[in-house]
Amino acid sequence: MTEYKLVLGLEVHIHLKTETKMFCGCDSNIYEAEPNTHVCPVCLGLPGALPVPNFEAIKKTQVLGLALDSILNKESRFDRKHYFYPDLPKGFQISQYKQPLCEGGEIELDSGNKVSLERIHLEEDTAKSFHENGRTLIDFNKSGMPLVEIVTKPVFKTVGESVEFCKKIQDLIITLGIGDADMEKGQMRLEANISLRTQEMEYNDILPDYKVEIKNINSFRFMEKAIIAEIKRQTEILQKGNVVNQENRGWDERSGTTVSQRVKEEAHDYRYFPEPDIPLLYFDEKHIEELKNSLPELPQQKKTRLMTRYGLTANIATILSTGYSFGLLKKFEGFVESGLDPVKTANILINKKESRDMSFEEFEKLLNVSTNRIINEKNLKNYLEEVVKNNRNIINDIKGGKLSAIEFLVGQVMKNTKGQADPVKVRELLKSEINKKFNTAID
Ligand SMILES: [Zn+2]
Repeated sequence: MTEYKLVLGLEVHIHLKTETKMFCGCDSNIYEAEPNTHVCPVCLGLPGALPVPNFEAIKKTQVLGLALDSILNKESRFDRKHYFYPDLPKGFQISQYKQPLCEGGEIELDSGNKVSLERIHLEEDTAKSFHENGRTLIDFNKSGMPLVEIVTKPVFKTVGESVEFCKKIQDLIITLGIGDADMEKGQMRLEANISLRTQEMEYNDILPDYKVEIKNINSFRFMEKAIIAEIKRQTEILQKGNVVNQENRGWDERSGTTVSQRVKEEAHDYRYFPEPDIPLLYFDEKHIEELKNSLPELPQQKKTRLMTRYGLTANIATILSTGYSFGLLKKFEGFVESGLDPVKTANILINKKESRDMSFEEFEKLLNVSTNRIINEKNLKNYLEEVVKNNRNIINDIKGGKLSAIEFLVGQVMKNTKGQADPVKVRELLKSEINKKFNTAID
């Protein structure tokens, strides 16, 4: 039977944190409000109401673009995307089509693989419908909320990488302070475009001629399950020699399957055209420079700094560099500046929750007790020999002059010893081990 390969692209929607909604002055703090209390003629879509773009939301989208290495367009515009749905009574959504705020961009995964982005654009969210007792009720609080959409290229080949990507985006949003991305509150929603192709198509870089879009996924776990179920469904259709329909589907948690919602529109069905009530937007170099200067240290930069400056392993550095660990990182850096060993401090802070609320004195005491368990030099030798034996390609790189490759070996030893070794010592011992074994003279 033919084996099929996954082709997966994602669309991630996130509410931006702004004072007011996207095109009107309504308070955007809607999450605990009574239905239909944060509304006005603009976000209700009443005839004649005029939209005014929210500059904060535009800047926040551009900041996200800079953090993801996108190109910021000097000229950008809003477009009308037409479709009718009860939660969109004006018959179109103001979105962006030909000239989005940001184009391209990428983000690196832990494996070193890069995820390429298509675009990042800004739009208004729709209202929310509730179906109960055979009636449909609509709450317009969410209508007109600033919604940023990140669209990836169809580059994911595994479910795991797509989930990791979404978590990294969520973390970046929090680090940048441009949103809360709380999935339970509907502040972050995922859509997956899924199709399958043969190994030969993958080899020749040919994309399938269809895609199935799974809409409105509101948890990472559901996304994982939905993609796996959809791969199974499409595989069965293709193996019978049938064609997979291009359509939108939703995840049904109860049955553990995806269910058909509607046949997917092609882009021209939306009859996009420039929003006549909003002029073209222009951005100069000075504006973009100012945004660049406002960027905080990004998770990836933070991770690299923690590894090179303090000798932390990639795993530990990843934990400390996420947006959620901001408090933990502050504590870590405070303790290390006061003279404590970085590797031991990080290990204790991460593994012993009770240590996070300790004063410096209490923490130092705990650290000294734990230190006795640090691996001695004789045991360390075994770890070194193993790493040297199992990484001949890295050794060849080092012999070929790429001395920095030794950091990978240091990382491996730190990983295998669960961070219980002193990285400075490990580096020193590794060098002498390699010199002895391979007759080199690195230092
Ligand atoms: Zn409003």
